[in-house]
Amino acid sequence: MINDLINDLSASGEEQKALFNKAAEVKLNNVGNIVYLRGLIEMSNICEKDCYYCGIRKSNKNNIRYSLTLEEVIDLIRKAHNLGYGSVAIQTGEVSTKSFISKIEKIVRESKKITKNQIGITLSCGEQTEETYLRWFESGADRYLLRIETSSEDLYKKLHPYGNAYSHINRLKALESLKRINYQVGTGVMIGLPFQTLEDLSKDLLFMKEIDIDMCGMGPYIEHTQTPLYKYKDMLLPRSERLDLGLRMIALLRILMNDINIASTTALQTLDKYGRVRAILAGANVLMPNITPDKHKKDYNLYDNKPISNRNNEDELTELDQQMSLIGHKIGYFNQGNSMHYTAR
Ligand code: SAH
Repeated sequence: MINDLINDLSASGEEQKALFNKAAEVKLNNVGNIVYLRGLIEMSNICEKDCYYCGIRKSNKNNIRYSLTLEEVIDLIRKAHNLGYGSVAIQTGEVSTKSFISKIEKIVRESKKITKNQIGITLSCGEQTEETYLRWFESGADRYLLRIETSSEDLYKKLHPYGNAYSHINRLKALESLKRINYQVGTGVMIGLPFQTLEDLSKDLLFMKEIDIDMCGMGPYIEHTQTPLYKYKDMLLPRSERLDLGLRMIALLRILMNDINIASTTALQTLDKYGRVRAILAGANVLMPNITPDKHKKDYNLYDNKPISNRNNEDELTELDQQMSLIGHKIGYFNQGNSMHYTAR
């Protein structure tokens, strides 16, 4: 199994095309040609952690820190709902103060209220206690996305400072808590990291299958000048190859887990203007347009050269809609787009 995966992960040319086609067929037969929207709200870049790869790590003093107010977030959700978004994803740096926990809770409750329970809510706010996860779930949050980043404990150690807050086991335990609470659980990895091998990536795929995730958000690693990992930039695959590797990961995951939700992530778009569309063709079925207010987008800089659209949300959606129809897909407006894998379970 591992060897087959490693082999597929190194596919190129015609072989790669065949892999994408197979994944497209599996997708069509299992989740169809509807693409669901999650309006991505980068709510805050304040972070207590110091991960070596991430531009919003607490030691990066060149960052302007911000946090949207409850009212600002609710306003964004109201607008997204009116535009036809069935779901939003709220992402933040990792903070676990009482006030942060209760702010998220209020946002979840209020969003459900103003949309008469119609909006689906994904949270992506890092590692929290089971009690916090439960509190947010009981307020109405539907899904939680916590990337394992890599399933290799060794590689994980290379990417994080030493300490309990960065233990791979704790991250796994957090995923278990989320499952126990019965969220739709998503995880994912960074692809093309320094020191990462195709064997690591194959094991990542098997890991996601084994813990039986409902959704996945994974994308290429992209270097950020103000981070410790930047010094290994010469070890990285060229950008176009990194993108293709990311697409092959998506295709293989679709073949392994035919009815989960797989996001076409922003990092793919950073490497190629059409990266997101190519991911949909390779098996992804979720798009996450960034609906964070323009004035803050540049400060949520996980990596360098993050694409910042200068169009308004409405125009961006029109463009995506056209791109999707060109490739025989339709956007599922006003549809939460819950994971079929979860519903079937
Ligand atoms: N703090 C939250 C979510 C915010 S970061 C959490 O820990 O889950 C969201 C994701 O961005 C991370 O999980 C990581 O996989 C990704 N990311 C961070 N830095 C990156 C980089 N340099 N290149 C690509 N992805 C990155």
